[in-house]
This record gives sequence, structure tokens and C-alpha cells, in this order.
Amino acid sequence: CFITLEGVEGVGKSTNLAYVQARLEASGKTLVVTREPGGTAMAEEIRELLLRPRQESVSEMAELLLMFAGRAQHLHALIQPALDAGHWVLCDRFTDATYAYQGGGRGVPMDWIATLETMVQQQLRPDLTLLLDVPVEVGLARARQRGELDRFEAEQQRFFEDVRQVYLQRAQAEPERFAIIDATPALNAVQAQIDEALLMRLGV
Ligand code: C5P
Repeated sequence: CFITLEGVEGVGKSTNLAYVQARLEASGKTLVVTREPGGTAMAEEIRELLLRPRQESVSEMAELLLMFAGRAQHLHALIQPALDAGHWVLCDRFTDATYAYQGGGRGVPMDWIATLETMVQQQLRPDLTLLLDVPVEVGLARARQRGELDRFEAEQQRFFEDVRQVYLQRAQAEPERFAIIDATPALNAVQAQIDEALLMRLGV
């Protein structure tokens, strides 16, 4: 079973990832927890390449191909072998993030992403995607409080607004795969929604 966790900055992804992990481990699943970009030694090197600030302007195509290069390696060396062995895989971000950030945020054509998705993943899609959702102002304010964003720029807000909209559109288009979790309320109320999604969708 392949589960992914998605959401814009400041939705509480790390805290809730740890919660989902603890829940699944408590239910006796053999679980592999991983992340994107990254997840294997080589894919983590690609992550560093992608996230390192640089002087040179970065081509959207270069960024997109690096994302999928890392994903191909991650699938080959970690995710597919784990699934083949009957383990459960919990991944912090996956291809929905590419649609949301590179597609929605940076304006890369969605059909390029879809083409690469098919090439790299063939039929593989997550069984369940938990989308943590909060209004962008709330998420950015939380991220800023933790010092992750130094300034609250209008441009930044628009970017994350576009990212969020693509996530929500994808969730609405594939309601059988996605569970939208309202991450605005207190943590215990968020985790109650996660419990319900895991129980209703996966019986755990
Ligand atoms: O999920 P995490 O916070 O570790 O992601 C690291 C950074 O990479 C974030 O700032 C996120 O916005 C960015 N990212 C991206 N495109 C993706 C996935 C992540 O720009 N497809």
C-alpha cells in the first residue's frame, strides 16, 4: 500500500507525517517512510541540487527533469522493491507536488508533467493521498513564525495560492484517491480526520 502526504508550506506536514507513521506502525504494518524530492542517496543529491540557491536562472525544464530523475531512482531503488516485498510505503510528497509546485506554481505545462509521470511511473499511483489543506495566509504565517520564511511577500502568497489550487483541483478530480484534511483547527481535530481517512480508505 502506497500512501503520500501533500500540502503547501506551513500545513503541519512533518508533525502529521510522524503521526501517520506512528498509527501505521502501531497497527503492525511493516512501513517504509521516505520523502520527495529525495528518498535514496542519489535522489537526495538531486534534492540538494534542486533546493540549493544559485545565481544562475534555472530552466523550468531542467527543474522538472531533475524532479523526475530523482523520482525514477527513488522508485527503482526504494519504493517499488518495498511494495513488491509487501511493505507499506509512506512518502512525504510525490508527483502531486510536481503538478502543484512546478505546474501550478511555476507554470510548467501540465501535459509535460503527465507525460513524464507515465514514462517514469507507468501505472504506479498512490493508493491514498492525504492532502493537508489550510488557507495560504494561515500556512505562510505558521511557516514564518518558525523562521522558514523571512518575509511575507505578495508574490510568495500568489505562488502558494496557485500551488494550493492545483492540489485542491486534483483532489476534487480524484476523490477516490485523495482525502482532503482540513489542517486549520487544533492538532487533535486534524488527527481525528486522519484517523477517519485511514480507517475508511484502508481499514487501519
Ligand atoms: O516537503 P519539503 O518542505 O521538504 O520540501 C522542500 C522544498 O521543496 C519546499 O520548499 C517545497 O516548496 C519545495 N518543492 C518544490 N517542488 C516540489 C516539491 C517540493 O518546489 N515538487
